[in-house]
Amino acid sequence: MDVPERVAVVGAGAVGLTTAYDLAAGGAAVTVFERGTPGSGMTGRAAGICYDAYAEDVDVAVADRAMRRFRELDGNHEFEFHEVPYVFLAREGDDAGATALSEAVDRMQVHDRSVELVDADELGERFSMHTDDVGLAGVSDSAGWADPKAYVDLFVDKCENEGVEFRVGEAVSIRTDPPGVVGGDGETVDYDAVVVAAGVHSRALLAAVGHPIALKPYRAQALVAECEYDGPTVYDATDGSYLRPHPAGVLAGDGVEAVEADFDDWDPAADDWFVTESTAAVRHRTETDPTVERAWAGLCGATPDRNPLVGPVASDVYVATGWHGHGFMWAPAIGELLAADVLGADESVPETFDPRRFDGDEEFEVVEGMTFDE
Ligand SMILES: Cc1cc2nc3c(=O)[nH]c(=O)nc-3n(C[C@H](O)[C@H](O)[C@H](O)COP(=O)(O)OP(=O)(O)OC[C@H]3O[C@@H](n4cnc5c(N)ncnc54)[C@H](O)[C@@H]3O)c2cc1C
Repeated sequence: MDVPERVAVVGAGAVGLTTAYDLAAGGAAVTVFERGTPGSGMTGRAAGICYDAYAEDVDVAVADRAMRRFRELDGNHEFEFHEVPYVFLAREGDDAGATALSEAVDRMQVHDRSVELVDADELGERFSMHTDDVGLAGVSDSAGWADPKAYVDLFVDKCENEGVEFRVGEAVSIRTDPPGVVGGDGETVDYDAVVVAAGVHSRALLAAVGHPIALKPYRAQALVAECEYDGPTVYDATDGSYLRPHPAGVLAGDGVEAVEADFDDWDPAADDWFVTESTAAVRHRTETDPTVERAWAGLCGATPDRNPLVGPVASDVYVATGWHGHGFMWAPAIGELLAADVLGADESVPETFDPRRFDGDEEFEVVEGMTFDE
């Protein structure tokens, strides 16, 4: 295989920027195309929660790699990774939730995850949060959060230092055979390889050149509320809500609509019901009186088997999308693996992520990412 010398990356989110940097560090001449500004897609809307408490081999390998890199960046004082335990719980009476949680913890422990099962009393002793309603909880010590905007700023700098060219403010389309990018002026520039890291918009870009991918967007919501909280990140599997510490108090989320959204017609503002329910959930769990500072919505990408779509779709044309809400926490690993694939290095993206495992016209239900049900 010829090693590509000139590579185009479409999309300057966490995934595109990491891939662009790793390609450039690996010797390629890289141009990044971004229709807005770096981070203006879903990365700028992410909650920034990161953990490695996964139950499947492939997820564990990717998460370990990503967490290692977040911590290296922190260790080099390039970036702050906030170490905070990750608590996932099922409420009393949610027997199905408790069973799924306990089975998930068993599988996590088989994979050597630093995670243990605790009851409400123990949880209450370890953390200052409301635990009376908890039936069963898992606690992972290897977790934390990071500011997605800081990650974007860091990787823009790192890319620029490696000579990556940025073309921003321009929505592009792509060509295959030979690979190329069609700019806003209609002019096509050929590249040795093209990486489509355009988030949920990757589907439209690839469908336009005859390579449909099995991706459906769904809407998720989050808010930041002022309050006094320095507890762990908490995911309540019974009501599907989560919260994590934030400099203002708490970042809370869910509001997932497990139905296909319209790429071109979705509401980026949070729904009133979400703000009400999420604020109540924060009040309940943190035992504080939160004041909502801001709230928003975004799109996540679902695939039929909940694994992402990462790898080649055509000769020298690659895609990286379909994260089920895990794209930020996986970006440091996906960038490395995909760049290695594009540059023909020994190491590469797990076969499980091969986008060609689907035809692209599959019927499937949207399932959100944090759930334990397999
Ligand atoms: C409310 C919410 C909370 C979330 N919380 C978390 C979390 O805690 N942890 C986590 O890991 N993930 C979280 N996610 C998911 C996370 O946001 C995404 O998985 C991740 O940001 C995807 O990154 P990306 O680089 O693939 O896509 P994006 O960040 O969307 O980047 C794609 C870029 O491509 C650009 N683009 C699109 N089309 C074109 C075109 N034609 N030409 C040029 N540029 C184009 C877009 O403008 C965009 O900037 C959350 C998502 C939401 C909505």
